[in-house]
Amino acid sequence: MEWEVVIGLEVHAQLATKTKIFSGAPTAYGAEPNTQACAVDLGLPGVLPVLNLEAVKMAVKFGLAIDAELTNPSIFARKNYFYPDLPKGYQISQMDLPIVGKGQLAIELEDGSEKIIGITRAHLEEDAGKSMHGDFQGQTGVDLNRAGTPLLEIVSDPDLSSAKEAVAYMKKIHSLVRYLEICDGNMQEGSFRCDSNVSVRPKGQKELGTRAELKNINSFRNVERAINIEIERQIELIEDGGRVVQETRLYDADKNETRSMRSKEEANDYRYFPDPDLLPVVLEPELIEEMRASLPELPNAKRDRFVANMSLSLYDASVLTSSRELANYFEAVLDASNNKEPKQCANWIITQLLGALNKAGLEIAESPISAEQLGGLLLRITDNTISGKIAKQIFDALWAGEGDNADSIIEAKGLKQVTDSGAIEAIVDEVIANNADQVEQYRNGKEQLLGFFVGQVMKASKGKANPAQVNEILKAKLAG
Ligand code: ADP
Ligand code: MG
Repeated sequence: MEWEVVIGLEVHAQLATKTKIFSGAPTAYGAEPNTQACAVDLGLPGVLPVLNLEAVKMAVKFGLAIDAELTNPSIFARKNYFYPDLPKGYQISQMDLPIVGKGQLAIELEDGSEKIIGITRAHLEEDAGKSMHGDFQGQTGVDLNRAGTPLLEIVSDPDLSSAKEAVAYMKKIHSLVRYLEICDGNMQEGSFRCDSNVSVRPKGQKELGTRAELKNINSFRNVERAINIEIERQIELIEDGGRVVQETRLYDADKNETRSMRSKEEANDYRYFPDPDLLPVVLEPELIEEMRASLPELPNAKRDRFVANMSLSLYDASVLTSSRELANYFEAVLDASNNKEPKQCANWIITQLLGALNKAGLEIAESPISAEQLGGLLLRITDNTISGKIAKQIFDALWAGEGDNADSIIEAKGLKQVTDSGAIEAIVDEVIANNADQVEQYRNGKEQLLGFFVGQVMKASKGKANPAQVNEILKAKLAG
């Protein structure tokens, strides 16, 4: 039997507002427990929530970026459940009328093609607090600093067909919210989290299979592993004559397995109803236009521009626009190298720089080589001061902090390319004199020996001779 996988994701992006969604308490991460929760966040009697305009603006920005219908007006609703980290006994969320309606996002598949993923909705809600199980002997602490932090929950259609697609979609959303500067995307701190809904069905069947929801997995890698292990479990279960039950499952990264947390029967009945303390949210046309004007160039537009204006390959352009920081870095390198060789800039960033960063476990923002330094280095290749090979040496020196810029390293190490043809001719003459056998073979038709001679000349010049000139002079002299 062939199986088809169906996945829908619910991404929670913490909005990067300074204060909470319904109170003036700060949202900064990492403060002493319960020092950033005010009476509203604690749900004390007599308080009233006041909606944070910045959170609304950020949601609108996101909606515009995914070409979504904005719901006008949208409504806040109470989602009722009891949990120690939820002092009010309900979470303020949106149910029937979410601020962002249907939209879409294109992801790139491994074969280079694009797939459009439907976005069902995105709604505003407040985060809950945190239960601290590790800190007290036999007791659980509650930290309400996170209570009331604004979240945008982004719900996808069940359009994803593999764990890889799910991760590509999640990365795309991650990149987008950071381009829009509405979420810092920090997964360790929980600012960007994801629940995955997974089901399988026999290939060709129309109806969806019963799904399991995998909760709060905190890295791209684990989302992929959790979904794959869940797909395996469901297929095995059905093939053994069993039935998937609708339930919430937790992923255990250490054991690489998913475990049942609660079944549908045990699920809460949230008894949603419109929150009487909050007015409907009316979006004025001016606000929508202000947000539209504030949109940065979006990743796909940037990618397409890199392809169209700079003749980069789609692959290179996709890598370079995968984050706003990297795209900015690329454009700064291009600027610093006089905008002549986009392809060369792309190659150096993708192979040399990203390779080195990856090896060192660093982000582009932490790069030991600044865009100005890399641009300055590439400029010296283009103007023939150094060869590409010497440039790699200088790259390593810049990485190690051995100089402020390429020019000072070239100067200090005497790496300037030799372009004086008299000097190159002298070396060529010497190499020809020292390799009489090879010269004879070459002249008898073994022309592939040219590479050998080039190598000898480059070696004798310590890599500094201009390779194009070396080739030209060698050919002339070897011809006799
Ligand atoms: P709930 O209200 O229980 O969270 P929703 O209908 O809102 O359920 O769906 C939540 C997520 O689950 C969405 O991303 C949706 O695409 C996905 N989903 C729904 N049905 C399935 C299914 N059968 N298999 C996989 N994903 C599904
Ligand atoms: Mg849900």
